[in-house]
Amino acid sequence: MPSNQFWAEASAYGNGNGEPVDCSFDEAEDDSSAGLSVVRDSASIDMDRIRRAVREILLAVGEDPDREGLRETPDRVARMYAEVFQGLHQDPGVHLKKLFTQKYDEMVLIRDIRMVSFCEHHLLPVIGRAHVAYIPNGKVIGLSKIPRVVDVLAKRPQMQERLTEELADLLMRELDAKGVAVVIEGTHSCMTIRGVNKPDSSFVTSAMRGTFRERLATRSEVMSLIFGSR
Ligand SMILES: [Zn+2]
Repeated sequence: MPSNQFWAEASAYGNGNGEPVDCSFDEAEDDSSAGLSVVRDSASIDMDRIRRAVREILLAVGEDPDREGLRETPDRVARMYAEVFQGLHQDPGVHLKKLFTQKYDEMVLIRDIRMVSFCEHHLLPVIGRAHVAYIPNGKVIGLSKIPRVVDVLAKRPQMQERLTEELADLLMRELDAKGVAVVIEGTHSCMTIRGVNKPDSSFVTSAMRGTFRERLATRSEVMSLIFGSR
């Protein structure tokens, strides 16, 4: 879809608390002075269409969508999708606009950022953690911003490989960092509750940029900081 449509200014649905209301992103953090609109046209999540589709699925599997327990299910599911896919309508870059000048050029690592995403192949949850490191180039970012960026990118139908790379590329670009390392560990419900049914499996992806890619010693250092204590 065209990007101007994608970022068209409007308010919309789910706010992360499961309420079908205004989802105008992260209050004060919406830096509209930067010319960034974070929420797409409210028409882009068609709640009624989801409700109809869920009703169809219930019928298709042989259920009675009008029985008491299911009567409000299509609406609940619609609100759930609006919530878990709200990242589609948010620009992660808005969290990375405020950098602080700091003469620190050693590695900064945020480990164990809890993350919930949805695999785009089955629309089932991927639960995991992200580890993000960067080497500043004269500027640092407030630490809470990186988990926010992870959230925005995770709350979309995703592939873990793509999520990992998108996160690394975005941070590299916006922080103007000397290097970025992203490692994500995810447990994919589509593997644990169905299909091959492997409940304890987890999937690890990594993306190395700049110094982390070029220097083995730096890459080894970040990997041992992430996994060394386990
Ligand atoms: Zn899947």
